[in-house]
Amino acid sequence: MQVHNVELTISAVKPEQYPDKGYPEIALAGRSNVGKSSLINSLINRKNYARTSSQPGKTQTLNFYNIEDELYFVDVPGYGYAKVSQKEREKWGRMLETYFEKRQELKGVISLVDARHEPTKLDQQMVEFLHYYNLPLLVVGTKLDKIPKSKWNKAESTIKKTLKLTGKDRLVLFSAVTKQGKEDIWAWIEQQAQL
Ligand code: GDP
Repeated sequence: MQVHNVELTISAVKPEQYPDKGYPEIALAGRSNVGKSSLINSLINRKNYARTSSQPGKTQTLNFYNIEDELYFVDVPGYGYAKVSQKEREKWGRMLETYFEKRQELKGVISLVDARHEPTKLDQQMVEFLHYYNLPLLVVGTKLDKIPKSKWNKAESTIKKTLKLTGKDRLVLFSAVTKQGKEDIWAWIEQQAQL
C-alpha cells in the first residue's frame, strides 16, 4: 500500500473510546525499544510520525492510527518496563485482554522481537496470549541489519522454536535501516485486512 495520509485518531484506554468507523485493525505489540515505532514509521514512509522510544511510566494507551481511511494500526504500549508498578502492569494486562478478546475489527497482530537475541519470557507470554485468542499472528524479528547474513537462518529458527510458532503463524525478519522485509509485512497486513 502506498501511504500518504496518516492520522493519530485516538489514544484509547476504554472500549468506548475505540474508533467506530469499522475499518480493519492491525495491532503491533512488543517490548519497549524493540523497534516498534521504527517499523510503523517505515510502513507509513515517515521519519518521525510514531513516537520513538516511548517513555517508561508514561500513560499506557492504545494508539489508533488511521491509515488512508482504510485501516487502523493499533500501537499497543510496550511491555517489560522494569520500573512499572504491579498495579500499572495489571491495568495494562486488563486493557490488552479487553482489546484482544472482544474487538471484532482486529484482524491480526504483529508481535515484534529483537532478532539479535533469543525472545524473552515476556515475548513468549505475549505469543502464548495471542495463540490463546487465536489471532492471526505475524512475528517480526527487528534490527536485521545488525546481524551478519550468515546468521539469519539461525535467528529465524531460534525465534520459531522459542516462541513455539505454528504453521499458521508467519515470521518476517526486518530492518528499519535497509527496509528489508517491509514488502512482506505489508503483504501480510493487506491479506489479513482484506484490502
Ligand atoms: P520502540 O520503543 O519499540 O518504539 O523502539 P524504537 O523504534 O524507538 O527503536 C529503539 C532503538 O532501536 C532506536 O534507537 C532505533 O533507532 C533503533 N532501531 C529500531 N529499529 C532498528 C533497525 O531495524 N536497525 C537498527 N540498526 N536500529 C534500529
